[in-house]
Amino acid sequence: MSMDCIFCGIAAGEIPAKIVAQTANVVAFKDINPQAPLHVQVIPIRHIVDAAHLEVSDAAVLVEMTAVAKQVAEDAGLDPATRGYRLVMNVGPDSQSTVPHLHLHVLAGRSMTWPPG
Ligand code: 5GP
Ligand code: ZN
Repeated sequence: MSMDCIFCGIAAGEIPAKIVAQTANVVAFKDINPQAPLHVQVIPIRHIVDAAHLEVSDAAVLVEMTAVAKQVAEDAGLDPATRGYRLVMNVGPDSQSTVPHLHLHVLAGRSMTWPPG
């Protein structure tokens, strides 16, 4: 756990959040400022800065994150085959990343536009 990290605090249960799923290595919670009817953050419990800091040895936790994202969407009735969802990972200033703890945005429940802004 990294001191002063908001998402480490949420993963540790020290900062309140609406948790929607949890596995051995991953927590999913509702975004505080949702950009779609369903907007969930899927994070590793272990502090990893961002996708640029992933190592080959982190492969399993990354797959666990995508599996939780799929489960969260399915639980909301947004099956990949029918409605689907968008997964986003921001890295660095140009991406507008604001929280330096790896997080997978799960956005769903509306038709998305492309390209993103
Ligand atoms: P980023 O811009 O870094 O890719 O995304 C960070 C996301 O975390 C944003 O969508 C923001 O709304 C969300 N967020 C920031 N602080 C909190 C918080 O304390 N609680 C929750 N639930 N979401 C947060
Ligand atoms: Zn952290």
